[in-house]
Amino acid sequence: MNREYSTQMEAARKGIITEEMKTVAKKEQMPEEELMALVAEGKVVICANINHKCLDPQGIGSMLKTKINVNLGVSRDCKDYDEEMKKVMEAVSMGAHAIMDLSSHGDTSPFRRKLTSECPAMVGTVPVYDSVIHYQRDLSTLKARDFIDVIRLHAEDGVDFVTLHCGITRKTIEQIKKHKRKMNIVSRGGSMVFAWMSMTGEENPFYEYYDEILDICREYDVTVSLGDACRPGCLADASDVCQIEELVRLGELTSRAWEKDVQVLVEGPGHMPLDQIEANMKLQQTICKGAPFYVLGPLVTDIAPGYDHITAAIGGAIAAASGAAFLCYVTPAEHLALPNLDDVKQGIIASKIAAHAADIAKGVRGARELDDRMSDARRTFDWEAQWKCAIDPDTARRIREERKPEHDDSCSMCGKFCAIRSMNKSLSGEHIDIL
Ligand code: SF4
Repeated sequence: MNREYSTQMEAARKGIITEEMKTVAKKEQMPEEELMALVAEGKVVICANINHKCLDPQGIGSMLKTKINVNLGVSRDCKDYDEEMKKVMEAVSMGAHAIMDLSSHGDTSPFRRKLTSECPAMVGTVPVYDSVIHYQRDLSTLKARDFIDVIRLHAEDGVDFVTLHCGITRKTIEQIKKHKRKMNIVSRGGSMVFAWMSMTGEENPFYEYYDEILDICREYDVTVSLGDACRPGCLADASDVCQIEELVRLGELTSRAWEKDVQVLVEGPGHMPLDQIEANMKLQQTICKGAPFYVLGPLVTDIAPGYDHITAAIGGAIAAASGAAFLCYVTPAEHLALPNLDDVKQGIIASKIAAHAADIAKGVRGARELDDRMSDARRTFDWEAQWKCAIDPDTARRIREERKPEHDDSCSMCGKFCAIRSMNKSLSGEHIDIL
C-alpha cells in the first residue's frame, strides 16, 4: 500500500483529511476538520476497505445522519446470485447505506466479490457464518486458525466491516446456564461461537486471538463490528447480567482496537422494553467511550410477528435519538421466514422513518429540510412537490390516485371540509364553499 496511513482512523490521528473524509463531510454538511477529529477519536467510523473500489463512503456516528443496514445474501432457499444482487441494488436505491452479506450456502466468495466490485454501499459480513461453509466441515472440527483465516479472506475480498463475537468467553457459558434466560442466546454468530466453545472446551478464538485479528483489520482498513452475542432475545432478558457483562468486555475490546488505529462499531440490543432503551444507549456510550452503536432493533414488544418492522422502528427511533448511530433493518418476516422483496422494502422504509425521526430530534444538520418543504407543498396542494419529499413516493402517489377527490385542492379524506383549503381561502379573503 503506498498511502501514508493504514486506516481512516490512523489518517485522522495524523491530521490527514482523506478523500473519504471529504466525501462524508460534504454529505453531512460538516467542516472536514471537525469530521477528521471525530474519526480520530473513534466517535465516527468510515468503513472503507482498501479493496472496495466502488464504495461511496459514508460516516457512522451519533452526530451524523443515522445510517441503516440491510441484511441479504444467498442461502439454501435462495441461491441465485443475480436475483440476490438485484435485491441488493434495489435496497441501495431505496436508501440502504450498508449491506450485510449473510450468505450461508455454497461458495460465498463470488457473491462477496461481486458485492465489493458493484455495490456502492458499505459491505459487512459475519465471518463465523462462513467458516463452516467455507471449509465444508463440522463446526467442532474447526480450529481457531480456521476462523482467523476466513476473516483474512473477507478482508482481502474488500469487506468494509466484520461482525466478530469477541465479547463472550468461557465464563459466559457458566453465566448463561446460571441465569436461565428465557431466550438464551439468539445471535446466530454468538450461538455458533458458544457451541464451538462448548464442544471443544477451548476459549473463544475471536477473543483469544483478538490482536492478530486487529492486525488483519488494520492492513485492509476493515472496521470491527463488535457483535453482541448476549443481546436480549426477548423483553424478559433485557439489561440482564449476561448482556451487561458482555458490554463491559466490548468496552475493553474497543480500546484495544483503537490502540492499533482500527475503527470500531459496537452492536447492541435486541429486544428491549421502551423505557430501558435510552439508559442502554447512554451506558454503551459511556462504557465504549463514544464508539458508534449499531442496534438490531430494539424490538419493543415480543407479540407482533408479521409487524416487527414496526416494533423495531419504534425502538430504533428512540435508540437513535438517544445516541445509536446505525440501525439494522427489521422486516415483517422477522422471526417467521426469509424476507421477500416486499418485506425488504417494508423493512427499509420503516428503518428510514425511524432514522429520520431520530435525526430531527437530535438536531442533525439539515435533517428537517425535507419536512419543511413537505409542509409548504401540503399547504399549497403541490402534489408533485409532495412526492419529491416523500420517503416512499410511489406508495403516496398510488394511494392518492386510487382515491382522488373531485378537486385538486383537498384529498378525499375531508373533501370540501379540508382545513387547509378553508384556511388558505380565509386568509386570502375568499368565499369558502363547504356544501
Ligand atoms: S382534505 Fe383533510 S386530510 Fe386531506 S389535505 Fe385537506 S385537511 Fe388534509
